[in-house]
Amino acid sequence: MILIFLGPPGSGKGTQAKRLADKMGFPHIALGDILRESIRLGDEVGLLAKGFVEAGKLVPDEVTIRITRERIAKPDCQRGFILDGFPRSLNQALALDETLKGADYRVVYFDVPLQAVIERNAGRWSCPNCGAVYHVKFNPPKQAGICDRCGEKLYQRKDDNEEVIKTRFVVYEQQTTPLIEYYSKKGKLVKLEAEATISEVNERLQKALGI
Ligand code: AMP
Repeated sequence: MILIFLGPPGSGKGTQAKRLADKMGFPHIALGDILRESIRLGDEVGLLAKGFVEAGKLVPDEVTIRITRERIAKPDCQRGFILDGFPRSLNQALALDETLKGADYRVVYFDVPLQAVIERNAGRWSCPNCGAVYHVKFNPPKQAGICDRCGEKLYQRKDDNEEVIKTRFVVYEQQTTPLIEYYSKKGKLVKLEAEATISEVNERLQKALGI
């Protein structure tokens, strides 16, 4: 089963992708996580991506398409995988279709009102070690500032400040929303009302996918 999660920043797609991937035993491929790890390591991709990620802009296609192609060619993806944060533009979607060579997939669109996602992004705290994501109001860690899963100190992503959040929304509107129509026309789109608690959305997701 190949799943693609689509939605604005803060729509909860990363949180749901992690949960579903754990349940199904599939890899959760989050482009943003891969890029942040490269930035942390200071490798070639990281040096190239840093300015774009911190400004909330899209990293050039040749980089993201190559990373995605290499990742989904790995043996652990043979049974299926969840793509989170890719594709984010029509060009990336076309490249993905070419890569998948006709393999079937479904695209889950996380539909959330704009106001709700702005609030979600602003209160988000992430774990630099295991990638767990928390929210001060909607999903707080048991102990403030500490990851429940691995005990690491949480941090706020550099691109989770008000100004960069605005840029990420503009980028989403301009570059990513055309994908809703692209996948809808192909009959691949599963629309999910995603303004609800994490467990409610999780239930809706499983029901929508029949799993
Ligand atoms: P995310 O963690 O999905 O919110 O992604 C964080 C940032 O990583 C984005 O704002 C972009 O700068 C970059 N990024 C993630 N996925 C992509 C992609 N498919 N294409 C280009 N840039 C991306």
